Amino acid sequence: MTQTYDVVVIGAGPAGYVAAIRAAQNGLTVACIDSWKNFDGSSAFGGTCLNAGCIPSKALLESSELFHRAGHEFAEHGISVSQPQIDIAAMQKRKNAIVKQFTGGIVQLFKANKVTGLFGRGRMLAPGKVEFTPIEGDAETLECTHIVLASGSTPIELKAMPFDREQIVDSWDALEFDATPKRLGVIGGGVIGLELGSVWQRLGAEVTILEAMDDFLFMADRQIAKDAQRQFKRQGLDIRLGTMVKSATRNDGGVTLAYDDKNGGGSLEVDKVIVAVGRRPNTEDLLAGDTGVRIDERGFIVVDHECRTGVPNVWAIGDVVRGPMLAHKGSEEGVAVADRMAGKYAHMNYDVIPSVIYTAPEIAWVGKTEEELKDAGTPYKAGTFGFGANGRAKALEQATGMAKILASTEDDQVLGVHIVGPMAGELIGEAVLAMEFSASAEDIQRTIHAHPSLSEVLHEAALAVDKRAIHGINR
Ligand code: NAD
Repeated sequence: MTQTYDVVVIGAGPAGYVAAIRAAQNGLTVACIDSWKNFDGSSAFGGTCLNAGCIPSKALLESSELFHRAGHEFAEHGISVSQPQIDIAAMQKRKNAIVKQFTGGIVQLFKANKVTGLFGRGRMLAPGKVEFTPIEGDAETLECTHIVLASGSTPIELKAMPFDREQIVDSWDALEFDATPKRLGVIGGGVIGLELGSVWQRLGAEVTILEAMDDFLFMADRQIAKDAQRQFKRQGLDIRLGTMVKSATRNDGGVTLAYDDKNGGGSLEVDKVIVAVGRRPNTEDLLAGDTGVRIDERGFIVVDHECRTGVPNVWAIGDVVRGPMLAHKGSEEGVAVADRMAGKYAHMNYDVIPSVIYTAPEIAWVGKTEEELKDAGTPYKAGTFGFGANGRAKALEQATGMAKILASTEDDQVLGVHIVGPMAGELIGEAVLAMEFSASAEDIQRTIHAHPSLSEVLHEAALAVDKRAIHGINR
């Protein structure tokens, strides 16, 4: 018998599973299909974020950070410990348990919301028809009113350095190492390169990050990126800019990386290399024949600002469509489409999406950078304040970095907030909320911030916008 649903979602990553739950909350009958397979052959919901991205990487970042601090910072607090040792197997076991808890949590959420979770492949056949091929058994056709395409993305594999899962690896394999490589190369100084490079560097690897662009973190505010780069350098991360890796060749137990740079190029010997040069949307074999859904030259599904594909009742969200490849962007798109299909009002503010890089210190921002404002000819004023003068940051032994607020000179509205420093990824929440409510710098100035807290740095940066910082020299 053909199964019929109001909504079939293809993909149960943070975009798809959120869309499925919200649609069910809106009273619709929903099936959500996912083909994710773990290395042990098990199926799981949650996509890259839960299984091979955000969640496991944060677990390892925390473990490696604690290891590093035990070895380098405890003495400062008067705590003496013998040389700390890292048990990689135990660290990985903890990470795997966290992942399992969260992916299992989606199964529970699906049950509680009466979403039918299906493990297997989904393929759109036509509007209102989705082919579902279970892990075992024959394909069947599901009929539905709405289809949500949320198939996510995959690490880009370069022809000159194909993944071998041992020495030339992608970001997922780099979360699974069972020992710290002695010399680790990272191709790409983007978010993944920096996060995974930091994990293994803190655990003792000699890490070299090779980045093709001349600017470090070109998408971030220059002042913040420079500050972060200085701090990473001090920590011993070897970041080589303007270095375009051309090939990776396996040799006796290692890998030779050949690169071009402004000095005529060279080569680097490493034991393992992580290739982190971006991700591509998963649109291969997602659509049968001519469904009417358009895919652009880079493989993204073409949608309008409301995530409509142009084919009635067919939506696409998350990494598979334009915009930043961020879990929280995909989730909000999921909520928005689930509300729209239920005839409700939905709002998605693409101008106020936070970005966070979970290095130590963390880097986080929302809104425009100073360079973007300059390029657009927008009159602005800037206020910065360092964590060096913040009591809580001092107590944490993490008093480095700064917060920067950019506001309009015309009406004082906050246009961008940029932070490099402790817990920047948590602090940015206040800035996101402020910007969502179109706050002015004065609004933040007049908001009482707890003392002593890291958030006082944002308060002072807002005051500095009008040269009224209390605990700093206003220039
Ligand atoms: P990225 O686009 O952030 O960075 C890739 C980098 O690789 C670029 O800077 C590029 O110049 C460089 N590069 C490309 N080819 C190269 C070559 N041959 N030699 C040297 N450098 C080269 O991509 P990513 O770090 O792989 O991340 C993929 C996506 O996942 C991004 O959209 C990112 O935002 C997202 N992500 C987000 C988080 C987070 O929010 N914390 C974490 C991980 C991933």
